[in-house]
Amino acid sequence: MNVKTLTPEISVTKQLTAQDVADAAAQGYRAILSNRPDGEEPGQLRAADIEELASRHGMAFEHVPVVSGAITDADVAKMRVALGRLASPVLAFCRTGTRSATLWALTQTGAMEPHAILRATANAGYNLDSLLPRLTRADAGRASASQYDVVIVGGGSAGIGTAASLLRRQPSLAIAVVEPSATHYYQPGWTMVGGGIFAPETTCRPTASVMPKAVTWVRKAATAFVPETSEVVLEDGTALRYRVLVAAPGLKLDWEAIPGLSQALGKNGVTSNYRYKTAPYTRDMVRALKRGRALFTQPPMPIKCAGAPQKAMYLSCDLWRRAEVLGDIEVEFHNAGAVLFGVAAYVPALMAYVERYGIDLKFESRLVAVDGRARVATFQRKRSDGGSERIEREFDFLHAVPPQVAPDFVAKSPLANETGYIAVDPSTLRHVRYPNVFALGDVCSAPNSKTMAAARKQAPIVAVNVLATLEGHEPIAHYDGYGSCPLTVERGKIVLAEFGYGGKLLPTFPTWLLDGTRPTRAAWWLKNRLLPSVYWHGMLKGREWLAQPRHMAGFEKSRAA
Ligand code: FAD
Repeated sequence: MNVKTLTPEISVTKQLTAQDVADAAAQGYRAILSNRPDGEEPGQLRAADIEELASRHGMAFEHVPVVSGAITDADVAKMRVALGRLASPVLAFCRTGTRSATLWALTQTGAMEPHAILRATANAGYNLDSLLPRLTRADAGRASASQYDVVIVGGGSAGIGTAASLLRRQPSLAIAVVEPSATHYYQPGWTMVGGGIFAPETTCRPTASVMPKAVTWVRKAATAFVPETSEVVLEDGTALRYRVLVAAPGLKLDWEAIPGLSQALGKNGVTSNYRYKTAPYTRDMVRALKRGRALFTQPPMPIKCAGAPQKAMYLSCDLWRRAEVLGDIEVEFHNAGAVLFGVAAYVPALMAYVERYGIDLKFESRLVAVDGRARVATFQRKRSDGGSERIEREFDFLHAVPPQVAPDFVAKSPLANETGYIAVDPSTLRHVRYPNVFALGDVCSAPNSKTMAAARKQAPIVAVNVLATLEGHEPIAHYDGYGSCPLTVERGKIVLAEFGYGGKLLPTFPTWLLDGTRPTRAAWWLKNRLLPSVYWHGMLKGREWLAQPRHMAGFEKSRAA
């Protein structure tokens, strides 16, 4: 196989054979990119066959077929998306390697000067001088079109919070927020909707009303990160360029990972507070249930708000207790994990409620299928001998929480670590390989609990560190892993878990005022009355109540404070 190296990240070559694919893997390539349409000549391996071979050798594959001599701007955009998805080094091929080299050259405008692009291809043996006018035009267009100081991907809690904190410190910044959704949600309120305490409408607002006026709102989804060229590719194939990227697109609720679940949701007694549309169904079903079996499930960690699956359960049990029907309802908690809550200090208070409500705890029991019509849930359970078994449970009520993973476009990107989440330094929230990239909120790999409370603390820290980066300094603000989980153990009382990295307790208030390890009315008041306002009027406006970065490094502290 005669490989021509354009950069350490990408090489090009002619049509691959099966043996070439094996050789590419042996030579350390992590991905294959085909630029050849199927069926150009007899005997040519089809893209699907090469994908299969690549996958057998542990390599990713993308197919961006183009016609020789007719490469369009849309082809270039597709190539950019594909390169953004693939881990490098990538081996791209077509019939001779020229189309691949040409496409690569066209994706480099904005990142490299046109003559430098042509030198790179010439060094690899491809004279593409005829491309110069197109490269020059594209370079000028891209340079003027969409360059921002900061591009924020995701206008959820973390994204808007960061934009607001940045603008508080430096109102003149050019910021783009990439957010496709017309509605912004306050997800912590959904537990209260399911418990019949909040009206659903109080947990959402038009995105336009929370988007800071000084930012450019790009109403599209991002589809790829290209950190080598400091670009984010959008769903329409266009790209935004940044000096600093803040990635905050949240996580993906993987409903489809449990066969039958998404079809069953919202009917036949199957519900979830993890979806805006079904949280009111939880409330209605709980009110309607008078006897039978109620199942609550919790998927493997990490999930957003690790306490939310059991919060739904306690509030439901409390309603059944008040309606004097709890004795006729068999309640089971199927938890994929081996403990009730990850921080031991809060477990005794929770266990007292488990006993009070007569809940049957089933640890290491994972929901794997739902048959809504038959009202049967299937679980994979660990047996005492270490093996596992599938068991079926009939139900009258099922509160299901889906497995949670990084969004697909993130997991496939060069920003991801082996879990799919964005690999950041847990202290500065800066990417471990790309110094002008930060990530926060549910999408980042830091081992804090994935909560809005964490994002509230992270946003100002990222804002300070982004500004430091823009000024050519190292990050100066440090995150201690703070997250919080208000466990609604009954209507009117909450066990307020507040902790940081390593499970270290980080209470906001002195114990005499609010002891988080016990159920208190004060914590309920916080969640019920105070926190929604802190969110809408504080965090999303850059008012950092109880969230100002405190851990600053050395001389920079006074500048950033
Ligand atoms: P999100 O708020 O989910 O925002 C992600 C944003 O990215 C969304 O607006 C989405 O539209 C956008 N996006 C997605 N894909 C793309 C793309 N391709 N391009 C551009 N934008 C994209 N936290 C607490 O602190 N306390 C609680 O009591 C609590 N309870 C909870 C109860 C429930 C039922 C749930 C579901 C969550 C709860 N949380 C709680 C967790 C909290 O809501 C999340 O941790 C928080 O919203 C994370 O913020 P984020 O910005 O990372 O993600």
